[in-house]
Amino acid sequence: MTEWRLDIALLQAAARLPGPQPRFEAELLLGHALGRDRAWLFAHGNESLAVAQQTAFTALLERRIGGEPVAYLIGARGFWTLDLAVQPGVLIPRPETELLVELALPRLARDGRLADLGTGSGAIALAIASERPAAHVTAVDISTDALAVAQRNATATGIGNVVFRHGDWLTPLAGERFTVIVSNPPYLAADDPHLQQGDLRFEPALALASGDDGLDAIRRIIADAPSHLTPGGYLLLEHGWTQGEAVRALLAAHGFVEVCTALDLEQRERVTSARWL
Ligand code: GLN
Repeated sequence: MTEWRLDIALLQAAARLPGPQPRFEAELLLGHALGRDRAWLFAHGNESLAVAQQTAFTALLERRIGGEPVAYLIGARGFWTLDLAVQPGVLIPRPETELLVELALPRLARDGRLADLGTGSGAIALAIASERPAAHVTAVDISTDALAVAQRNATATGIGNVVFRHGDWLTPLAGERFTVIVSNPPYLAADDPHLQQGDLRFEPALALASGDDGLDAIRRIIADAPSHLTPGGYLLLEHGWTQGEAVRALLAAHGFVEVCTALDLEQRERVTSARWL
């Protein structure tokens, strides 16, 4: 193999990567192959890669070109202020989900009790717990793989005020009440063509799709939440951008008040909150 300078390797890799952020992705993959962060790469652009490093980087690059999500290839994704471990079997945290965190925080008292249903990597529960260290956060998931990842993230971030429960939505929380319940549940229709595109092809269907209209999980949560909320408590749900009206109607039909939907950065209906009196 010919000598391969780091800055040239990055340029050539970025030219081969599809998508909107080829340079950034090339840096994440090379950083992972070298065990270095992006800042280190900037300062060492004129160094040559060892053969083993070239091989490792090329292998990651080929897998990315084959469609595998960058987050799974490097085993990490940033969310809120946290660097979270992710792996196949858990949903990759999305930037739009930070809206759910932003809306939950002002509704959660300093020492409030919050439940995060379908915690996946733990993104929402850990972000909120990191901002409210005196709050009691309970994170639930039906996937033991996801719970293992979420627990690992709690340990790695040093966040101690989250407990983890295994089970289906509110089922493992029998007899418990919370001041805030949040969830980013699966909300795509089972036949949504997006499931065959991009990162979604590699993510767990359980975390993405929910019945014929995508609302099965949301219906379950809305029906069961009242018996787990303290009076005046809040339920906040992320949903698809075309589902706002249906979610508001379900909440109103179950007796929730102050039902309102917030828009994400793309001005699409994304998170609906409601209050239980
Ligand atoms: N709560 C996790 C997240 O928002 C996982 C959500 C899911 O798997 N649907 O990233």
